[in-house]
Amino acid sequence: MIEQWGHADTTLVEQWTRIRARLRADVGEAAFNSWLKPLTLGEMLGNRLRIAVPTRFMRDWIEQNYGDQLTEFCREENTSVAQVEIIVEPIRTVVQTPGGPLRPPIGQRHGGETAPESDEFVPADGLDAVVTASEDVRALLDKRFVFKNFIVGRTNELAHAAARRVAESDGVPFNPLFLFGGVGLGKTHLMHAIAWHITEREPSRRVLYMSAEKFMYQFIRALRFRTIMDFKEQFRAVDVLMIDDIQFICGKDSTQEEFFHTFNALVDQNRQIVVSADKSPSDLDGMEERLRSRLGCGLVADIHPTDYELRLGILQDKAEQLGAQMPDKVLEFLAHKITSNVRELEGALNRIVAQSTLVAGRPVTLETTQDVLRDLLRANDRRVTIEDIQKRVAEHFNIRLADMHSARRARAVARPRQVAMYLAKQLTARSLPEIGRKFGGRDHTTVMHAVRKVEELRSTDNSFNEDVELLKRMLEI
Ligand code: ADP
Ligand code: MG
Repeated sequence: MIEQWGHADTTLVEQWTRIRARLRADVGEAAFNSWLKPLTLGEMLGNRLRIAVPTRFMRDWIEQNYGDQLTEFCREENTSVAQVEIIVEPIRTVVQTPGGPLRPPIGQRHGGETAPESDEFVPADGLDAVVTASEDVRALLDKRFVFKNFIVGRTNELAHAAARRVAESDGVPFNPLFLFGGVGLGKTHLMHAIAWHITEREPSRRVLYMSAEKFMYQFIRALRFRTIMDFKEQFRAVDVLMIDDIQFICGKDSTQEEFFHTFNALVDQNRQIVVSADKSPSDLDGMEERLRSRLGCGLVADIHPTDYELRLGILQDKAEQLGAQMPDKVLEFLAHKITSNVRELEGALNRIVAQSTLVAGRPVTLETTQDVLRDLLRANDRRVTIEDIQKRVAEHFNIRLADMHSARRARAVARPRQVAMYLAKQLTARSLPEIGRKFGGRDHTTVMHAVRKVEELRSTDNSFNEDVELLKRMLEI
């Protein structure tokens, strides 16, 4: 038997902590909590790393769905690992009750009509309970994911308004509410916010939130332990059903079938359903047609990729929440650079804040930021093009992109245009004539003049110099 950490040396433990963090980031919070959290580090046997799970069912599932990732991360963190072996190691913790005999914790007690096999594991996070009491559902929600912390911008305002409407309404404004958008854009945040709001306002309303993966897990368990009637009844007794990441059940026919029936039963009784996915209903390949059309028949709200204003707004809000003093320039820089999704944006900010508190006395500047985030920035970078430069510079100086090509000579547009030409010369391998052509067919001497002019201004005008420097950093690879 493996004692947790028993045989592991500190380095291995540290590596394991990192592996877990990477898995969490990779598979997302919900899947991590459902499946990977219960993993415990075992021992190294030669070049084989042993990882323990509490049940056979979980072992099979993890091997099938997360095995490659787990192995890859273990190998990357510890080069002497060639193979990862997942073994079943039931949790054998015993709890000492005051004055009473030793007894196993709840998850280990057997008996009752659904007593599973002896190695069955009931995770402590409520994985098995179909929770409907408001207190219970709240225990599963992320405290930070409330409406108050959700920053609204052009790209998410529809989804936000729809979520609010569902949360604040006594009835069922649209059924289902279908939220969709790319990863890390706030779908889960909005769903939790709905659940928080409803359970707070009307504790008697039974709210159930779960990932589609968990839905499937419970369904499979119910089939296996012949408790399918209980399963159905429990689901059908809720007032608000929220299923996150429904794309997970694409291609999983029997789970889809069950969900379809649950869905219909709830809609018939005028209960609210909220569903999220990474794609619109019509793009969900592997989803049965009848379910797809059902999913699309309420309100379908798209969360678009973030724009600069939203990213900046989120950063300002989070920095304030963290009580961190951040120079505006650093936040602007991050908002320009980390464009992939909000999760990465938050991650970047957290790293900078952590670094500045760890290395006290080292103020946060553009340089330290770039240093700390080198890997992240690289991942978010592409090769910079003249078009990127024109766009960024136009945004920065608040002029129309068309003015990069136009013949207008007013200072307000001519100067930014010169800056863009200068940056094109600095940051791309284009020749002067090529650059000229991209700026409305200008002559190479015009470009040369612009480069000289900007160089001259940089050396005489400090704030202009800073402006150009910021733009350059934002565009640089
Ligand atoms: P998704 O479920 O779409 O993959 P999440 O809801 O998990 O994304 O969001 C990822 C992270 O980004 C969370 O920490 C969330 O709080 C944060 N986030 C996303 N959108 C916003 C927003 N508009 N305002 C504040 N935080 C946000
Ligand atoms: Mg999510």
